[in-house]
Amino acid sequence: MKFLSTIFFLTFTSFLTGQNTFLHCGKLIDTRNGKVLEEMTIVVSGNQITSVEKGYTAPSGPEEMVIDLKDKSVLPGLIDMHVHLEMESNPKRYLQKFTLNDVDVALQSTVYAKNTLMAGFTTVRDLGGTGVNIALRDAITKGFIEGPRIYTAGKSLATTGGHADPTNGMRKELMGNPGPDEGVVNGIEDARKAVRQRYKNGADMIKITATGGVLSMAKNGQNPQFTIEEIKAICETAKDYDMHVAAHAHGDEGMQRAILGGVKTIEHGTLMSDATMDLMKEHEVFYVPTITAGKEVGEKALIPGFYPEMIVPKALEIGPKIQGTFAKAHKKGVKIAFGTDAGVFTHGLNGKEFFYMVEAGMNEMEAIQSATITNAGILKNEGLGEIAVGKYADIIAVDEDPLINVRTLENVSFVMKNGKVYKGVKP
Ligand SMILES: [Zn+2]
Repeated sequence: MKFLSTIFFLTFTSFLTGQNTFLHCGKLIDTRNGKVLEEMTIVVSGNQITSVEKGYTAPSGPEEMVIDLKDKSVLPGLIDMHVHLEMESNPKRYLQKFTLNDVDVALQSTVYAKNTLMAGFTTVRDLGGTGVNIALRDAITKGFIEGPRIYTAGKSLATTGGHADPTNGMRKELMGNPGPDEGVVNGIEDARKAVRQRYKNGADMIKITATGGVLSMAKNGQNPQFTIEEIKAICETAKDYDMHVAAHAHGDEGMQRAILGGVKTIEHGTLMSDATMDLMKEHEVFYVPTITAGKEVGEKALIPGFYPEMIVPKALEIGPKIQGTFAKAHKKGVKIAFGTDAGVFTHGLNGKEFFYMVEAGMNEMEAIQSATITNAGILKNEGLGEIAVGKYADIIAVDEDPLINVRTLENVSFVMKNGKVYKGVKP
């Protein structure tokens, strides 16, 4: 038995190291040092980067392959900290709650996942769906379908009538009385139970809706919706399971409670005050702006019938403000983590966020770093966010230098994830 397992081990490792792929990169973005390197070779073996060398190294054997990216700029795979892979905004979305089965949601999510990967996003954090996103993550990990690495919150947590209460806006007998299992918590015991249930279901982290939101069937888009005690109970319990907590928040009071309660990231952060920005810095909480989603809801709200009437004033008021808040927070030194809220807009257009960040005053390199090395740190995955020896071979390329034209990140021409080429020049 021991002998057999040795043979297996040898075969397995030779599979990993036997076939090297050499990527010849005209420009290579060093996200750790914020530099651009020229004429570099990345050597990939199995799913790992085994060498990064100056100049164009020739392969030594016939079984080794070259990928020519000499006229491209090469970066580590991008990471989006805020997507919803189960859905994509459309005028029928509110009806679809009643017409789609989980299996329908699952099948459409495979398309959204693939579109995300093809846009160069090799890792995402899925911040809330029905729980189908957990099965989606597992199917991608097993290689059944093509998509990014997923870290998922499963189903978001809300209070009764809060932004992520799944029965908002329904008639009484459909409304029922959802509890921690469905993601609705009221009080400390519910809060703990809901987190433990997420862990049991297979979630990687917790998402809470700390304030009202734009797209839920509820009047207020910004009021605080959890007590600070409830948020503390959620964050402390999540910590027991090595999970972090992401908080959706538009209003300032709910945002402050979330920060003081112990969350890791604030999503949207629309009405963030100067005092709250200072609090973010003091508690080392990251801001995930989602500017693209803010702009998108503002535009879609002008199309008659796209959103239910109750949503329209909220979308017009809140959406367009996010970019201004981002500009101010960045200038003040709040840590920024790249995230878009794709699903609120079309999956695969995640790269638009870079332009909006740069337009609001961030430099191109910082924007790229926020989508790579910063996000890898939040996910506590040292294999991501950087092109260096020992990291995962998650590598993308664009036709132009993104430090000169950041919009080139909206047209990614080469995608490798875990050592496998999904788009562009195949070896
Ligand atoms: Zn969202």
